Amino acid sequence: KELKKYYPVLGGFFRKKIGDVKAVDNISFELKRGETFGLVGESGCGKSTAGRTITRLFKPTSGKIFFEGEDITSIYGSRLRNMRKDIQMVFQDPYASLNPKMMVGSIVSEPILNYRRVSEKAVRDEVMDLLTKVGLPEDAYFKYPHEFSGGQRQRIGIARALALKPKLIVADEPVSALDVSVQSQVLNLLKSLQKEFNLTLLFIAHDLSVVKHMSDRIGVMYLGNLVEVADADDLYANPKHPYTKALISAIPMPDPRNKSARIILKGDVPSPQNPPVGCAFHPRCPEAMPQCSERKPQLKEVNREHRVSCLLYD
Ligand code: SF4
Ligand code: MG
Repeated sequence: KELKKYYPVLGGFFRKKIGDVKAVDNISFELKRGETFGLVGESGCGKSTAGRTITRLFKPTSGKIFFEGEDITSIYGSRLRNMRKDIQMVFQDPYASLNPKMMVGSIVSEPILNYRRVSEKAVRDEVMDLLTKVGLPEDAYFKYPHEFSGGQRQRIGIARALALKPKLIVADEPVSALDVSVQSQVLNLLKSLQKEFNLTLLFIAHDLSVVKHMSDRIGVMYLGNLVEVADADDLYANPKHPYTKALISAIPMPDPRNKSARIILKGDVPSPQNPPVGCAFHPRCPEAMPQCSERKPQLKEVNREHRVSCLLYD
């Protein structure tokens, strides 16, 4: 709720704070139990920062985070430890997030041993079972990360995230570093594990076609702001925000008869250190009006469960 995460910008001889990068600038949304919520936007829009702030890997600058009704914004100690069990992350680069010196079995056992008193045999059985569930051979237990392909390493990362039977998984671009040919296998795996483990999934991606495949609802981010939130089908059939329209128009269409023109946005994403005043999208917006450079739009409901932040709908 009204979550902000700013990074200080230091400058000058004394490395004094000279400004802020407003990575996440006041976003509010909710995850419903059991759903997949896709958080999408270009790189640098703040979606990873949002994911890491929600999981309390980063400290929020302001705003609140609630999990199952409990305010977790500033818990610490044993309460934070308990919460970590319920909320796990899967990272973009599986190789960088796996310790190369540890056997896969130890990597996946580690969270279990950190949280529960269990016999060696019980842990091993549990981990073998997890490895099978993510589609790895049982002897993966005794191998090292470098012995696996990118897709298999991401399966190891997923097994580790599942080890504590979390309720929520935040997956930050889990397939962006993988070959296209294995992306859909890993996505399908995530989908079936979600059912089996009753997971809620916050799925972060820059690629709208990947998000569509995965999500029940979608939030579109631009320069630290949520500009549109809707059911996935509704968002694709009926995008409201000019930025969402442009993103959707850029998805390659399998049907060549579909002639809807691609909307090309002018310019680059401005710096989040000096975001444009008014609507942050106005310098690039094909539908911008004079008031767009003066007033900042708020996220408002335009239809049932469909919210958009744009003065066209004010
Ligand atoms: Fe475009 Fe104005 Fe809407 Fe911003 S508020 S998206 S500039 S029309
Ligand atoms: Mg990122």
